[in-house]
Amino acid sequence: METQKFYTLPPLPYGYGDLAPAISEEQLRLHHDKHHNAYVVGANGILERMDAARKNGTDLDMKATLKELSFHIGGHILHSLFWKNLAPAGKGGGGTPTGALADACMAEFGSFERFKKEFSAAAVSAEGSGWAALTLCKKTGRPIIMQIEKHNTNVYPNFAILMVLDVWEHAYYLDYKNDRGKFVENFWQIVNWDKVSKRLEKTVYR
Ligand code: MN
Repeated sequence: METQKFYTLPPLPYGYGDLAPAISEEQLRLHHDKHHNAYVVGANGILERMDAARKNGTDLDMKATLKELSFHIGGHILHSLFWKNLAPAGKGGGGTPTGALADACMAEFGSFERFKKEFSAAAVSAEGSGWAALTLCKKTGRPIIMQIEKHNTNVYPNFAILMVLDVWEHAYYLDYKNDRGKFVENFWQIVNWDKVSKRLEKTVYR
């Protein structure tokens, strides 16, 4: 198998207009084609600089390089997950989780409504630019909500990420101005629970 040495921008698994009105076509196009792509280009650029420095025997500023690399790779991976855990409302998007995911949420949060409330509060209160993530601790099997700062701060090593919500301003500003709360509320209409469940099952039962 050919090894892929650089990152590529994955195409969206739906059309640019398909998540409207929760996310408009213009907003989604900008977010995917410009913002997500910038992290792909950014990560690849740093990898190329590292390759060149190693080849030429020149020094790298390891602190700055690794900080920047982690930011861009984190951005790329989180956005790739984000597109996959969304689907058009009523066509795979929205509703409530079923199966193992519903059971895990019930055991941890007591009800889906309680989970939704906690996850929404995590997303709305994430400081500055960041994400809310539903993760799974592989040691305890407990679903744990994370608040990720930027793309890479506060991430728990070795936890499986099941679902993410991007709450950077670039994710919603065209549609919602500064009303992050409204964006988070509408996010629930486009969650692809089937994909989130599959990620849980893969993590737990592999
Ligand atoms: Mn984003």
